[in-house]
Amino acid sequence: MPYATLLLDLDHTLFDSDASEALAFAQALAAVGIDEPARYFPTYDAINRGLWAAVERGELPTAAIKVVRWERLVATAALDADPQVLADAFLIGMGQHGELYPGAREVLAALAARADLALGLVTNGLSEVQRARIARLELDAYFDAIVVSSEVGVAKPAPAIFDVAFAQLADPPRASAVMVGDSLTSDLRGGRAAGIATCWFNPHGKPAADRALIDHEIAALAELLALV
Ligand SMILES: [Mg+2]
Repeated sequence: MPYATLLLDLDHTLFDSDASEALAFAQALAAVGIDEPARYFPTYDAINRGLWAAVERGELPTAAIKVVRWERLVATAALDADPQVLADAFLIGMGQHGELYPGAREVLAALAARADLALGLVTNGLSEVQRARIARLELDAYFDAIVVSSEVGVAKPAPAIFDVAFAQLADPPRASAVMVGDSLTSDLRGGRAAGIATCWFNPHGKPAADRALIDHEIAALAELLALV
């Protein structure tokens, strides 16, 4: 500390992904004539979480998530629906819905205003979804580098995705860099593997499964301003 390079996660760190996903899920089911999203969401959620965990383990490319989660839901819940139609409607909905958490934009603006700071967005996600969100929320104004896992073929926690971010930032020193995110398994494990400091965004005061991964812990994004 103080850090000069901040790498930030998007989903559940800056962006209310739960709201985005719930609205997109209802929109996807409506596209195939199903109007009971609450009945199917828990099954979808378990399938989706399992697939993202496989992405983090390097067992599945990010882009495969797109249709596989719907193929599995259709099979598991015995739905009469085309997984591709569900997948297409869902991606559009995910891009269209959801907002930054309250206060997140103000923190981004304050960080971006600092000429001595480099800001990177490093997200495990699908290009179609994340680029639509980034454009709609005008996030590119704040970041010097934006790395989306499906575009680069590697996902957090693999060090290679951090290498892409550092290359986009013209290789700043890793000793003064920190990865900020809500996920111990992707953001913090990834930061560790990339040889940079870690900051856990933990707004709900969850117990940590592995404290050794955590250099800093914050409950509100505004606390970042004290780290730079
Ligand atoms: Mg996240």
